Amino acid sequence: MVYQLDEATAPSQPMDSEAPADQASQDSAASNLAPASPGWTIEDSEETYRIKGWGEPYFAISANGHVTVSPKGDRGGALDLVELVQGLQKRNLQLPLLIRFSDILQDRIERLNACFSKAIARYSYAGRYKGVFPVKCNQQRHLVEKLVEFGAPFQFGLEAGSKPELMIALALLTTPGALLICNGYKDQGYIETAILARNLGKTPIIVLEQAEEVDMAIAAYQKLGIKPILGVRAKLNSRGVGRWGTSAGDRAKFGLTMPEIVAAVDKLRDADLLDSLQLLHFHIGSQISDISVIKDAIQEASQIYAQLSKLGAAMQYLDVGGGLGVDYDGTKTNFSASKNYNMQNYANDVVAGVKDACVQHQLAMPTLISESGRAIASHQSVLIFDILGTSEVATASPEPASDDEDLIIRNLWETYESITPENCQEAYHDAFKFKEDAISAFRLGYLSLTDRARAERIYWACCDRIQGIAKTLAGIPDDLAELEAAMSAIYYANLSIFQSAPDTWGIDQVFPVMPIHRLNEEPTKRGSLADLTCDSDGKLDKFIDRKGIKNLLELHSYDPSQPYYLGMFLNGAYQEIMGNLHNLFGDTNMVHIQLTPQGYAIENVVKGDTMEEVLGYVQYNGEDLVERMRQQTEVALQTKQMTLEESQRLLQNYEQSLGRYTYLSV
Ligand SMILES: *Cc1c(COP(=O)(O)O)cnc(C)c1O
Repeated sequence: MVYQLDEATAPSQPMDSEAPADQASQDSAASNLAPASPGWTIEDSEETYRIKGWGEPYFAISANGHVTVSPKGDRGGALDLVELVQGLQKRNLQLPLLIRFSDILQDRIERLNACFSKAIARYSYAGRYKGVFPVKCNQQRHLVEKLVEFGAPFQFGLEAGSKPELMIALALLTTPGALLICNGYKDQGYIETAILARNLGKTPIIVLEQAEEVDMAIAAYQKLGIKPILGVRAKLNSRGVGRWGTSAGDRAKFGLTMPEIVAAVDKLRDADLLDSLQLLHFHIGSQISDISVIKDAIQEASQIYAQLSKLGAAMQYLDVGGGLGVDYDGTKTNFSASKNYNMQNYANDVVAGVKDACVQHQLAMPTLISESGRAIASHQSVLIFDILGTSEVATASPEPASDDEDLIIRNLWETYESITPENCQEAYHDAFKFKEDAISAFRLGYLSLTDRARAERIYWACCDRIQGIAKTLAGIPDDLAELEAAMSAIYYANLSIFQSAPDTWGIDQVFPVMPIHRLNEEPTKRGSLADLTCDSDGKLDKFIDRKGIKNLLELHSYDPSQPYYLGMFLNGAYQEIMGNLHNLFGDTNMVHIQLTPQGYAIENVVKGDTMEEVLGYVQYNGEDLVERMRQQTEVALQTKQMTLEESQRLLQNYEQSLGRYTYLSV
């Protein structure tokens, strides 16, 4: 369901709570602001969550401890994310909520083009750059429409990797001169459709990815009498590293080996189509974290390009595929969640590498194409979710043990009372032993459930005290270091990671996650997040860190009477379409926000799935379900197991639920 709001009906006059952040930060309006912790500053929060590393120039922390969004990057204008969320909630948009910032998308496109322009000027490259967006990265209509609009000044095009994506790209890409790169598995229909689109004035380039596609392209030409523009995808020897390393090399799923490329050239020559072969493409995988891998690939591909020219192909384009990485952890390293180069370094290496080969072989310099998806789409969306509750070990000071209590309990109490910095490791071992004794005694029937509960409570109180001391010690013994994990909290998050962050589950991807308020208050808790699904994999327990990954996130103590909002950032690429309906949690609510001089405008609202919609995916019909319920209440009425009022209330609840959001409302 989509509501279109134009500028006129969107709130052009911001409500008082939606003033730009610089104004709002002065009156620190949000009622849920806990008193700031003495000694804790927003700089401490910046350091803890590393927001400068991954967030600049779009995300920052304001003086009142809220995350702010500067959708236009360093060109000014900021929104207070908390106030934005609260404003959206007032419009009946419940959490979890995916917020897309169109301005960030625009900024990313402009940045990428600016980087290539700079590189082209710097190396006096006699050619141009015409990027394309790989639609598979995020196919949502509003996003692709915006992308085409923002890309038009740069003749930015689209890349399709499947037949349905080709349908999107053909219909939406109307920018004159922009390229439509046709990748993926193709059948005759795919190829013919793409060729015919040439006569609409479009520039579809059919990239031959399988040896059989050469014959299909020739057949389509002979049938239609229209010459296609063809490209060939090479299986490079240079490999990506990490997860997508197998996208290149002889065993890669896509691309032609060198013998296959030479055979394809011969076939095209025989069919009088060698002048159609104009593009060389390669893709060595996504999220390339090490620039040296990119350099190698460019070098190898440039030579293949030059050789194809020598063989008589009318080469004009070199398409370097995707792989431009995103620095999810902000460390600027070659760690998988990071990258050791920036966008400018990338553009420089592409431009300089191709130029070198062209100079060496005295060739005209090709139009450069990149298919950067992740680098364009990641930053523009933020997922906001709230915390529903927490589970922590109770560590409140226990009652002193009395003389008539079990010996084990008295021992535990004595241990608890005598903990000092000097004996804390020994005290931990004692407490652990007594707690194990208590469980053994319970198992044999010598300890009551109440006594066992009491023993466990004193044990955790011991651990809490010991851990408090251990934190202040210079060198923490290993066994005490493990205590932190054992005592960490679980925060229950109102989201499904299978729907909203499937890559955290599928491929151990880490996204920056952090509270979006209370950042002027010390996060005194350490915890992991559990989602709403009843799947033990439905959790977030890997978080970005200065070095590698950490298992616990710094969180604020949870007060059930106040909302606690968390944001997951940089998740605009791949997550939405890979998300699934595990446990029947559906699509989340989604809004497109654009910065205006007065604050912001809500460009589009896409309501998340209702229960009826989700049930429909598994072939249930809402009316039929209600009817089945009605029949069961009739039976219950007749046998007097239920009153008429109860039956009406039940049916009403049931029917209303069908039309509601699949997530919990607090
Ligand atoms: C997935 C894919 C891309 C996008 O890669 P990113 O790393 O997200 O930029 C580009 N080209 C092809 C052929 C792909 O399969």
